[in-house]
Amino acid sequence: MSHLTKMSELTYYRGRVALAEILKALGIGHGDEVALQAFTCLAMPEGILATGAKPCWIDIEHGGVNMDPKSLEERLSDGVKAVVVQHTFGIPAQLDLLVEICERRGIPLIEDCCHTYASRFAGRLVGEFGVGAFYSFEWGKPLVAGIGGSAVLNDDALDQKVKSAYTGFVSPGKKSEAKIGVQYAGYSVLYSPKRFWMVRDIFQKLSSSGAVEGNYNPSGEIAADFGLRMASSCRKRLEKQIAKATIIEERARGIAEFYKASLVGSPVLKPVFVPELADPVYARFPLISAFKKEILDQARAHNIEIAEWYSTAVHPLGSADWKAIGLEPGSCPHAEQRASEIISLPINAKTNRFVTHRTVGFLSALVE
Ligand SMILES: *Cc1c(COP(=O)(O)O)cnc(C)c1O
Repeated sequence: MSHLTKMSELTYYRGRVALAEILKALGIGHGDEVALQAFTCLAMPEGILATGAKPCWIDIEHGGVNMDPKSLEERLSDGVKAVVVQHTFGIPAQLDLLVEICERRGIPLIEDCCHTYASRFAGRLVGEFGVGAFYSFEWGKPLVAGIGGSAVLNDDALDQKVKSAYTGFVSPGKKSEAKIGVQYAGYSVLYSPKRFWMVRDIFQKLSSSGAVEGNYNPSGEIAADFGLRMASSCRKRLEKQIAKATIIEERARGIAEFYKASLVGSPVLKPVFVPELADPVYARFPLISAFKKEILDQARAHNIEIAEWYSTAVHPLGSADWKAIGLEPGSCPHAEQRASEIISLPINAKTNRFVTHRTVGFLSALVE
């Protein structure tokens, strides 16, 4: 069975639930640590903390957005029982070095493929390098199904364990299914890159009032989601998206090529580091700028979709709240730096030629 087909087998309420299930199947829990990169979102420590384990924070590459192999090597201790490697924005991490470190130390590697199902490293599909990988299919990811995630295991024994635990998972229930359905419909109708800022403001208001499913659990009551499967309506959409995966990949490649070719040489925008062996299929096209704040303000004023994530080293948490996730301010300087200078451009079904040209025109005009 192909990796892509397997992506709709073990489907969970969210991607973070899939991560927790892989960790549990590895026997990870209280007293253990799981290594992951800073420059990520709160969903990641949520998934780790849900197992009882603690995050061990690793810094990212100089000029890049993925785990720095040197930082991993330095920070691995005997307490670390797994390493989660994230392919941020769809750019594959330096898997040659990261896999080598994990193999040498006998620590299982798990891939966070939430930003890509199609990128390759050294000719091989991401998600095939570790003991397993997990995916997310919410708005903003390459395959959009609503809310949900899945796990794919590359190790047979682990696969059996995750599958047998899966029988205990239940559907989110009628009320939750209905809420997610309404949310998906609302999003599909409302969202377009031109209305990005408006939809973002509405979503933030509604999720802080509890009217829609937000991205993070504000009160820290994480337990409930971690026993749930993906809503059945989302699962159906996921199967349709998977059937179109090659077309979606080709479109994404074309849009990224256009952004890259149009913005090369800009004095205010720098490219993000991409490993030589990497063949990225981008979820969004990232750029580095010392003028992040100014660009975002201008983009909002002109109704141009430019996203800020990650806004902090663990989006959306400010450093005052990092204690709860065990991240020491200043301990991951590259991640903090990148959060202050990263912007990203849309790549999705509604990113047509008009949008890409308008976005590039906006960014080129900034230079003058
Ligand atoms: C979206 C995302 C997740 C978590 O996905 P959920 O489905 O929201 O739990 C994890 N890692 C990365 C890099 C993501 O982008």
